[in-house]
Formats: sequence, structure tokens, C-alpha cells
Amino acid sequence: MKKIVFTIILAAAAAVLVYRGELFTPKGKIIKRTRFLMDTVFTIQVPNSLGLRRTEAAMERAFDRMSEVDKKFNVLNQDSPAYRFNSERQPISDPEIYSLVKAGTDISRETGGAFDMTAFPLTETWGFFNHEIATRAVPSAGAIKGALSAVGWKRLSLRDGKVFPADARVKLDMGGIAKGYAIGEAVKVLKEAGITSALILAGGQVQVFGSAGEGKPWRVGVRNPRREGYMAGLQFSEETGISTSGDYERFFEADGVRYHHIVDPRTGYPARGLMSVSVIAPDPVKADALSTALFVMGRDRALAFARKRPDIDVIIVDDKGKIFSSRENPAGAER
Ligand code: ADP
Ligand code: MG
Repeated sequence: MKKIVFTIILAAAAAVLVYRGELFTPKGKIIKRTRFLMDTVFTIQVPNSLGLRRTEAAMERAFDRMSEVDKKFNVLNQDSPAYRFNSERQPISDPEIYSLVKAGTDISRETGGAFDMTAFPLTETWGFFNHEIATRAVPSAGAIKGALSAVGWKRLSLRDGKVFPADARVKLDMGGIAKGYAIGEAVKVLKEAGITSALILAGGQVQVFGSAGEGKPWRVGVRNPRREGYMAGLQFSEETGISTSGDYERFFEADGVRYHHIVDPRTGYPARGLMSVSVIAPDPVKADALSTALFVMGRDRALAFARKRPDIDVIIVDDKGKIFSSRENPAGAER
């Protein structure tokens, strides 16, 4: 990855990275639209160079495409192939889902199983399977053990262009990868419409291409995970993105312990040790899945993993609020 000027602001205490690109964009020159999809707010920003009507039309098409992806990949949508896979054991032949499951299982292999699209029984048991936290109590050890016994990415069997359940209990959950895919699809739609610069923001993930107007880089802030404010600033002047997985998006606390929606497929419990992991990568699918996986892997394994990968940079905030990065100057860091 090309090096861009970059320094992490070693601000106070805890940091978790969340993107608020709109904070930094020059007023009035950027067309901004939002839509609620995938349990989160999606925002598209485009510097106005094509004219308002053409730009708006392109943005609408991008949102519609992401809405299509949402419907298709949402395991809670009864019309989705993923729902039928989970409830009726029906193999998935949809080529789009097949390719994303394939990409996801590649990441499972690379991350030693930290990324696992079969973790659904666990997130269900914990009550994190949709945006409403269904329960606010720690499940019994027996319930967790029971759910865990149904989890394992190798239970997704890929052959003849189809995804088969390799046993009777496996359930698919693409929540750790579908958002990145949707964002990538939106980029394609915008480019096809002649848009040469845009920022797409969805929850803790941002993707940019082109410039923020007048040749200026897109600026993205990394939010503190425990309070208002930002811990780092990034500038992107090439096509790239960043995805943050944190313990602050969906969680509850019990007896002083924070339980959140990223589960460790080895233990069945929410992954411990970090507040957030941000992955900077040109490919939004990789950024999304790897931020989840590296969160599970913990600081040392995540940093070692990132240092072997030329296609990603990683910024980590540990459970004491200390910030670490895989390189001294991760892509985009501001001076
Ligand atoms: P968010 O969706 O809040 O941006 P992530 O991208 O980190 O956060 O994805 C978390 C989601 O991924 C969970 O809500 C769940 O659907 C799924 N998930 C949880 N643990 C894992 C895991 N170990 N591997 C893959 N997916 C997971
Ligand atoms: Mg993710």
C-alpha cells in the first residue's frame, strides 16, 4: 500500500475508531444523502461536479443497490436464501452469496477461524442477532456450550457453485462481511454513473475514491471509543477505506463486564482484550471481515498478522485505551 503522511494522535485514554467524514468536508460543495440500511445509517457524499440531478440519481441507484444486498444477505429476512439455508437447510445457489461465502471462508482460513460466518447460534444465544439487544443477561455456561457446538466455518461446504450445510445445525450469519460488500457495490454503481469522487459511510466503515473536492483528500476522524471526540485523523487521497469493529456498537454490561456483539468462536464469549480494531484496506470486503477477525485475534496476533500483509494497515485500541498500529505510519495518518 502506498505510503501517505500519517501520524496517530496519542490523545487521552481510550480510542475507538469511528468515521465521521462529514465533519471535515467543505460546506456547501458536497451533496450528502443518507438511508437506513443493515441496522445502521448509510451516508453517501459526492462533491458536486456532475450537477445536482445527475448526482442525486446516481446516489439513489447506489442506495437501491445496497438495499438489494441488504435484503439478500440478511439472515432475518424470511425471503432471503440465507434464511432458508438456516431454517430449511436449503443449499444456496445464488452466485453472489456463493462468492461472498467463499471470500469469507478464505478469511476464516487466513485468520485461523477467528472470522466465522457460522457464529450465529452464539450471537443468538447472547441476544445480539439484531440491532435490539434481545437479552441483557449472560447466558448460562451450558447454553453457550450448546451453541458453540454448532459453530465452525468448515461446516459450510462449498461445491458446484453452491453453499451446502455440512451438518444439521450450522447457521450462516454474514453480518461481519455483508456491509463491506454493499459498500463495494455502491462504489461500482457511482462510478458507472460517471461519478469520480465519493465517500460512503456506514456505521463504523468508510470507503472513498477520488477527492473531497478541489483535489483535497478525504478526511476521516477516528472516534474515541469511550467518550466524545477523536483520537486520530486520516487523509485518503486514493481509493481506499477503513472499517472499525468495536466493543461499543452493541453491548450490555453485567457485573462490571462489557459483553458485546463480536464473539470469539473458540470460547463462545465476546472477544476480550480490545476496545477496537480498524483495518485500512482498498477492498471494503476485506476491511470489514478483517476488522471483525482481528478484534477476535487480540493485539499481538492482529499486529503480527497485519505486518505480513501489504494490503492492509491496522490501528488497535486495547482495553486500557492504548493505541497501536501495524506500521509507524499507517496509510492516511495525518501529521
Ligand atoms: P458492525 O456490524 O457493528 O460494524 P462488525 O463488522 O465487527 O460490526 O461485525 C459484527 C457482526 O459480525 C456481528 O453482529 C455478527 O453478526 C457477526 N460476528 C460476530 N462475531 C463474529 C466472528 N467471530 N466472525 C464473523 N462474524 C462475526
Ligand atoms: Mg466487520
